[in-house]
Amino acid sequence: MDKGNDKYVKAPLGMKDIFPDERLLWTEMENAAREEFEIAGYHEIRTPVFEDTRLFVRSIGETTDIVEKEMYTFGDTAGSTITLRPENTAPVMRAYLEYELFKTKKFRKFYYIGPMFRKERPQAGRLRQFHQMGIEAIGSYDPLLDVETIKVATRVYDRLGLDGYVVKVNTIGCEKCRPGYRAILKEELLQYKDELCELCKARIERNVFRVLDCKNKKCKEIRQNVSNTEDHTCSDCRDHFKTVKGAFDDINLEYTIDPHLVRGLDYYTKTVYEITHPAMGARDTICAGGRYDNLISDIGGPPTGAVGFAAGMEASMIAVLKTRENNKNSQPDTSSLSPDVYIVSISAETRNHCFKLLNELRLSGLSVDMDYESRTPKAQMKVANKINSRFTIIMGPDEIEKGVIKLKNMQTGDETFSGDTDKIIQIVKGNK
Ligand code: ATP
Ligand code: MG
Repeated sequence: MDKGNDKYVKAPLGMKDIFPDERLLWTEMENAAREEFEIAGYHEIRTPVFEDTRLFVRSIGETTDIVEKEMYTFGDTAGSTITLRPENTAPVMRAYLEYELFKTKKFRKFYYIGPMFRKERPQAGRLRQFHQMGIEAIGSYDPLLDVETIKVATRVYDRLGLDGYVVKVNTIGCEKCRPGYRAILKEELLQYKDELCELCKARIERNVFRVLDCKNKKCKEIRQNVSNTEDHTCSDCRDHFKTVKGAFDDINLEYTIDPHLVRGLDYYTKTVYEITHPAMGARDTICAGGRYDNLISDIGGPPTGAVGFAAGMEASMIAVLKTRENNKNSQPDTSSLSPDVYIVSISAETRNHCFKLLNELRLSGLSVDMDYESRTPKAQMKVANKINSRFTIIMGPDEIEKGVIKLKNMQTGDETFSGDTDKIIQIVKGNK
């Protein structure tokens, strides 16, 4: 549902309700993700939706869009502030550290699925509560893991039948080579200072890498003229990237190198990647990730290599729906929203009997419903049709007296089945 009615109290700006028919795709996506994540050895971690503000400031970086203007931060009773999580990598790392997981089993693989909060300017496809699903492999510097995480993401998309996505990768170096590249980039971008957007003019001084991530058209053009990150990385980073590229080829995973790709969060090192989809227009990223070898030490832990991604679920869904539309397969399977049996009561006197039968049938695992709005039998039949109930039972005084249940198959119109409760259960289950 796109728009609520202004007559009533509305959900806050950028917040969206998900109704049962939309939820079908959510469940499909979540199930696909869970299965692929588990296949690759990632297990679910659930962290709180808010954290100490300092966690995000330290990890994401003070001069990022998220920390500068997108966080929902509130005063806490203890005098500190808390922030609704804008992303979930930092919280997972916080949990890893807080419980000193590195002491018992250093290498861990986690996944999460859940809501994130960013105070974004309202625009198409951007919400203030949105959802991400992601994985994190913590405790290793192995470049093969970079590729593993990307492969897991593409497996999820393949499972959902998504066509036309593109995997883009780059290396952004490490603390050894980044300062040199930063200086070069600054110098090169200063030549274009007048043409950059207002924000980027300031970014040259404050956090020059952010210029490469600007969505402004002119800034995007300018970034094509500056040096590649890869050309300025140290031999360590270059070797790492070489192994990454080799592994892509080994497992036939198609990718393109985007030599100016950076991410909107400061904690990335070495490999960064995005999966984009043309259905999304200018902001075409549906999944983003990379390596963040300094994040755990930035928040006070021992040096620990880590890599992972976060997929935007709303964005991924738009892409999946577009594919299905293009393939003329846009009708979702809504059968799970329909009951197996709808019980029609002939009169007020038979309702209690209907209610008893409804509970017996539900006990056997069938989904069963009846009327709770004082409808006439005819109107109840209409409801059964409208909600696509697979079967109906019409319950009148005759049936109660004889102890038989008459079952109608709504697909075939067949009304021949009758019998006791067990027989009815058998027939309905046999017809699933
Ligand atoms: P972007 O540049 O797309 O804003 P980002 O760098 O700010 O992304 P990430 O955490 O890397 O943030 O985002 C991963 C993905 O999560 C995005 O590509 C997008 O699909 C989704 N996402 C991020 N912010 C929002 C939002 N406000 N509403 C909906 N989806 C979002
Ligand atoms: Mg953003």
